[in-house]
Amino acid sequence: MDREFAFNSDGLHQAVELMGLDFTNSEGPDLPMELPQFGVGSMAAVNALAPSILGGAARLGEATSFAHMDPPTPWITWAITLWNASLNQNLLHPATAPVARQLEERVVAWLAPFFGMNGGHMTPGSTVANLTALWSARECAGITEVIASDGAHLSIAKAAHILGLQYLSVPMDANGSMDTTRLPSNLSKSALVLTAGATSTGAIDRFDLAGRAAWTHVDAAWAGPLRLSKYANVLAGIEAADSAAVSAHKWLFQPKESALVLFKDTERAHAAVSFGGAYLAAPNVGVLGSHGAAATTLLATLLAWGREGVAQRIEHCMDLAHCLRDFVVAHERLELYAEPQTGIVVWRPKDENLFDQILHKLPLGSTSTTTIAGVKWFRNVAANPSADINLLIAAIQKTLP
Ligand SMILES: *Cc1c(COP(=O)(O)O)cnc(C)c1O
Repeated sequence: MDREFAFNSDGLHQAVELMGLDFTNSEGPDLPMELPQFGVGSMAAVNALAPSILGGAARLGEATSFAHMDPPTPWITWAITLWNASLNQNLLHPATAPVARQLEERVVAWLAPFFGMNGGHMTPGSTVANLTALWSARECAGITEVIASDGAHLSIAKAAHILGLQYLSVPMDANGSMDTTRLPSNLSKSALVLTAGATSTGAIDRFDLAGRAAWTHVDAAWAGPLRLSKYANVLAGIEAADSAAVSAHKWLFQPKESALVLFKDTERAHAAVSFGGAYLAAPNVGVLGSHGAAATTLLATLLAWGREGVAQRIEHCMDLAHCLRDFVVAHERLELYAEPQTGIVVWRPKDENLFDQILHKLPLGSTSTTTIAGVKWFRNVAANPSADINLLIAAIQKTLP
């Protein structure tokens, strides 16, 4: 046997040991410009790459990390990812992944009911989940147009473009939700996309619109997991949609790439986006061909934590966002964009001349920025349960005159 393919306890232990070291400020390896003729060996390669790969990444679980929708991941997902890589199963083929396919079905079956859906499948992100849902909408409901708000994620316009569908963008109201007075009256050929947690503002569109169009899709990439928490009602009405997208690599703390596309009538939706091939024992459902066992890390996390464990972490993140909101509202020099609905706090100095000064003084990775209707705002996203909100508030205070 080629030993490079065998279980190597020393090598794997070394890789794990390196994870515990602090490589901040270390230089990257001196990599050759061209593919090397001869290899350095696996152990040497692991040692050489550790400082740049481990030291060169933003630490999403750091106390001041509160900027983006990318969460830190729990250690159980690191362990299962290692197993996944070693097995390299392909969920396209039941023969190579008999159990992994069942585990994906189980994890989808666990989560779909929270959204009023009866099934679906995993995708590498909500970009692909949105595309898949709108593809089903085109096949099942004969839609010719996709309607979403100006605050919708760019993946919606992208999906319409790929699918050859018209795209209509509806203005937002002052809170960042779709201004429903601007919707066309005839939606009989339309897929209406409602966003649950707009990427910039965290705003939620009005779900009482669900069911009014030929197809309703809810893009719950960010805020979907609130359904597992005491904030489930923030997304009340989602169950009237025909499909939903949820990114597990956002608020379910999964490593990339992990998301779900869910359907009200999965049998019909899947049939519309499935292709058989002579060499395939089971039909190929959805956009991807070969794909890996992302479901196993999600299943492991849900088994380890239970719904309670997920809820507790998301609710803690919501508490952190509310602390920041309270600080902004109480501060005479700061202004809130709108009440945060899904753990995203958007704020700015009342004096716009202070914006760049604040930006440059804030700790790297603590805060992101966004532009809404031509105005620059700071944006904080509560994706990190280990964030120390007092540290962030102190950092913001220090930037102010
Ligand atoms: C992040 C996001 C997406 C895209 O999801 P990916 O998982 O990054 O592909 C779509 N919609 C919304 C609202 C998002 O926040």
